[in-house]
Amino acid sequence: MIRNTPTHDDFYKTGRELLDLSWDMVARLLSNLAEAEYYGIDTGEISDEYWNLARRQLTTSLAITQQGIEFLIKGRICEISPYLLISDSPAKWPSPYEGEAIDFSRFRTIDAQDLIRVHDTFSQAAFDAQFVNKFNELRESRNVIMHSISESLDVQVGEIIDSLLYMHSSLFPNESWAKIRKRALKSSPNTELGSVDYISNEVCRELSIIINLLNPAKVREYFKIDKKARSYFCPNCYSEANRDADDFDYRLARLVSKEESCNEVYCPVCDQNYAVVRETCSVDDGDCPGNVISEIHEMCLTCGHY
Ligand SMILES: [Zn+2]
Ligand SMILES: [Zn+2]
Repeated sequence: MIRNTPTHDDFYKTGRELLDLSWDMVARLLSNLAEAEYYGIDTGEISDEYWNLARRQLTTSLAITQQGIEFLIKGRICEISPYLLISDSPAKWPSPYEGEAIDFSRFRTIDAQDLIRVHDTFSQAAFDAQFVNKFNELRESRNVIMHSISESLDVQVGEIIDSLLYMHSSLFPNESWAKIRKRALKSSPNTELGSVDYISNEVCRELSIIINLLNPAKVREYFKIDKKARSYFCPNCYSEANRDADDFDYRLARLVSKEESCNEVYCPVCDQNYAVVRETCSVDDGDCPGNVISEIHEMCLTCGHY
């Protein structure tokens, strides 16, 4: 008998945590750099040491992404049977004659390079070719990052983020990454230190930086919004945000259609639609051209006027 057999949920949970950790590292790097630029630091004058260290972090975050994906694929295999994860021939397994159940962790498990093959052999549907390519590319891009001399991190960061989002959305098409990220921030130990007041600010800030970085097709694929369309505050994110310490200026919501009468906005952070009315903004000085108003939150989603 075997005890402590892992479940697919165990693997999914760890996999998502690792992806979140990787995202956290990359987002922090980008967010700090954006802040430095905001305060007038010329990126051309940042020391070589900074770029070296930044590249190291990116390689680490790539390795973590890779591991996260491996856990998620193991979860998929585990849904078929956890015993498919056991490698080695039976002669090398721990002995079943020691009088007690064998702990699953005592078995050697299959190598990362065999995961796809094992999955595709036993699953009803094999992974598609694009997924397999991306998975293999991820292993190779580590070297590329370490050896590229580029003053801009954007390309490399874009690749890591793209791989992470692509893999996540292929494995969990109905799951919004931004929502997972928000949940992870909420369950971070930092919330006990007061960061809970800033979660909406943080998640909106990093998402707006990353949306800026990705091309419109990818933004549509991963966040279900038209990057080029006019942007609006999400009434929920806005009301949750701490606006005392941070001028919350992240407009990530979009109207759900181009029709003039369209009366819903979609927020990629909340992964939810919100009703709006199309009336002129009532701000006193009349400077706001906004005509998308949230009645429930009584606010103009263009300027934030309540
Ligand atoms: Zn929102
Ligand atoms: Zn307004």
